[in-house]
Amino acid sequence: MKILIILTAFILAMLITGCRDVELKPFSPPIVSGQLTRMYVFNTGKIQFPYSIFYSKEEWGEIKKLFPDKTKDEKVWLSVPTYLLEYSDGSFIAINPGLPSISNQNPSKAFGFVFSKLFSVKVDEGKDLYSQMQAHHLDIRKLKAMIFTHLHIGDISGLIEVKKVSNTMFYTVNEEWQAVQKSFGIFKGYRFEYFKQIDKIYGLAFKTSTDFSPFSEACNFLGDNSIIIFKTPGHSQGHLSFLIQGKDKSYLIPAGAAKNFPSFSYLQYSWSEEKSKESVNNLKEFKAKHPHVKFLMDHDPFDWEIDDFLVIDF
Ligand SMILES: [Zn+2]
Repeated sequence: MKILIILTAFILAMLITGCRDVELKPFSPPIVSGQLTRMYVFNTGKIQFPYSIFYSKEEWGEIKKLFPDKTKDEKVWLSVPTYLLEYSDGSFIAINPGLPSISNQNPSKAFGFVFSKLFSVKVDEGKDLYSQMQAHHLDIRKLKAMIFTHLHIGDISGLIEVKKVSNTMFYTVNEEWQAVQKSFGIFKGYRFEYFKQIDKIYGLAFKTSTDFSPFSEACNFLGDNSIIIFKTPGHSQGHLSFLIQGKDKSYLIPAGAAKNFPSFSYLQYSWSEEKSKESVNNLKEFKAKHPHVKFLMDHDPFDWEIDDFLVIDF
């Protein structure tokens, strides 16, 4: 029965999706004049994945020693966060939109038919980015920009609830943009539908830099060093990691590029294992060179579990 559903969905997807060819707008940063003052990490909900998506055979052996009861096919709930940066001029910049509130009532609208049949999602009412901003009295109209770590359905489905009032500019890289526009993207975890109502999508501009070794290129998003973006391909083709630098605290968000347990490593589910290895080695080296930078993991079922939200003042 399940095979029949998947097969029908495959044929349907074939009929309704075609290869698109929309170009990203050239990089242009949002206008933000203040200093980075705060970061909110909102948990927007959870998606269930089997452990096998995360761990290699060897890693799983280590986990079994610690947790003999766990099985590789067992499904685990993974929190999906959105990172909201607040600036002193009242502007906000978000990294990923997280999950939408409609996930529970209408999973097919939120994730598309195929994804909604394959994965379970749990979202509490009012936990999406926009509702959480409202609940914390943060002005949605000041959400100047949203940058994506990558464009996997599980990470960006909250786009379905993008508010027209927000006036937000959206940013990604060509590799991800190509992947999301391809026919059958849904079978690789991509869905173009989220972008149908968005017209301001910009490409990010990277420059050669020696400041963030071993990363040889970086995008200094606002030019003020508060958001530095690195290319960490592997989990997806154009995956990005973020270095967030406040006055005296710095955080690195590796998103799908790394997990912490049982060791700092890449996720088993990846577009390229070779690139995943390379990226995780770069992140490891960066970690060793900059011990003051705290890593915020969010694709690690053993490491990231917040019930609601986290506030970091800079
Ligand atoms: Zn992902």
